[in-house]
Amino acid sequence: MNRTRLDSVMWNAAVHAEYLHDHSDYGFEGASGQFSWQLLKRKRDAYVSRLNQTYQNNLDKAKIQTIRGHATFVAGPEPTVEVGGKKYTAPHILVATGGRPSVLTDLEVPGANLGITSDGFFQLESLPKRSVIVGAGYIAVEMAGILSTLGSRTSIILRQGVVLRNFDSYISNNCTKELLNAGFVCRCSGVGLQVKSVRQQRGGLEVTLVTKDPDTREEERTSVVQDVDCLLWAIGREPNTSGLNIREMGVELDEKGHIVVDEFQNTTRKGIYAVGDVCGKALLTPVAIAAGRKLAHRLFEGKPDSRLDYSCIPTVVFSHPPIGTVGYTEEEATKKWGKDNLKIYKTSFSPMYHALTTRKTQCIMKLVCAGAEEKVVGLHMQGVGCDEMLQGFAVAIKMGATKADFDRTVAIHPTSSEELVTLR
Ligand SMILES: Cc1cc2nc3c(=O)[nH]c(=O)nc-3n(C[C@H](O)[C@H](O)[C@H](O)COP(=O)(O)OP(=O)(O)OC[C@H]3O[C@@H](n4cnc5c(N)ncnc54)[C@H](O)[C@@H]3O)c2cc1C
Repeated sequence: MNRTRLDSVMWNAAVHAEYLHDHSDYGFEGASGQFSWQLLKRKRDAYVSRLNQTYQNNLDKAKIQTIRGHATFVAGPEPTVEVGGKKYTAPHILVATGGRPSVLTDLEVPGANLGITSDGFFQLESLPKRSVIVGAGYIAVEMAGILSTLGSRTSIILRQGVVLRNFDSYISNNCTKELLNAGFVCRCSGVGLQVKSVRQQRGGLEVTLVTKDPDTREEERTSVVQDVDCLLWAIGREPNTSGLNIREMGVELDEKGHIVVDEFQNTTRKGIYAVGDVCGKALLTPVAIAAGRKLAHRLFEGKPDSRLDYSCIPTVVFSHPPIGTVGYTEEEATKKWGKDNLKIYKTSFSPMYHALTTRKTQCIMKLVCAGAEEKVVGLHMQGVGCDEMLQGFAVAIKMGATKADFDRTVAIHPTSSEELVTLR
């Protein structure tokens, strides 16, 4: 499954739905579009199939043998992998088995298996009328945004009031606000709010919620969402290491089951390496690709120092509007440099795109600068276009740009990105 592309197609569709709301504000009278989930899904899946075929063709052209099946390590003097009853060994074995969505058992939450995960989201054959998303991470935010924007009545269940809690607090607060603005039934007031049980009823699923908030009156601690036709668990991901028999090979795993690797992607067993989500660090497609490339250069091109630098990895959350972030959050930077050695620049404004629109979203931006020279060590933003804006700024930050370098750069007017080089 090519989740990155599937997700991206769905987000683009949702952005189209948003623009439709703005058509009349830009003079397109009577412009409306009849949305067909089935048509979108058909075109999306055909695109991903074409892409997968292209990858397969490239493998074939490079004379790389593809063996289909579930791999497990088996005992032997050399690291050996078994697939479909056949054994394979090689001086170098790379594990890139990724991860899967965490699921709750029916014992933990009765009826939990009536829900789906992000994998199931991509298999939905129609747009749910009523959706409930459980989770506060980027997958929950993205799926909630897509479903709601395309027309599903959507609620997001948060345990601690805000989404994206690992992000800079400026972002996490603003993103929560944008979700509320977008009309989500955002149950953020419940401290320790969680799903108690799920039942199949005639009109759909009945999801019972309970809060552990001591300030909530006993009789109000339980609430029920009725007629839900899509309950989506987005409560984290876990590595695909169970059933791999890899610990038995002398490969160390951490307490969550991720493969422990050094900075060169070596595991604790000579000749076995790991890259990507299975290592549990910076779970992003380009990270897995870059780490794999660097490893190949080291092993097969005689470049002993080749390794991926995991610092300053830019990340985008395809929320509505999108989030772009790179480097330290203010909270992390305060721990590292101390509050007195930091200067924070912030702005919040309505992007020019919204000058004519009834629908409004804010753009917020924050620069975290450290030391006397005000080195830019963090950039966090949410607003229209921030996804595309980030890459170039990430280059500058990776190169060690200071606030003075930003200020020396002439603005592009009228854009949102010009705010980043004119912050006072
Ligand atoms: C909903 C969603 C949206 C995302 N959006 C983005 C995004 O916009 N941008 C981004 O950069 N990242 C995104 N990601 C993250 C991205 O998908 C992962 O970081 C990336 O796929 C990791 O690559 P990987 O090769 O480590 O693992 P995977 O892509 O998960 O590939 C692992 C492969 O190994 C196979 N496998 C597992 N165990 C075995 C076994 N024992 N034998 C044989 N095969 C096995 C699996 O079936 C799978 O095909 C998203 C993830 C999700 C879930």
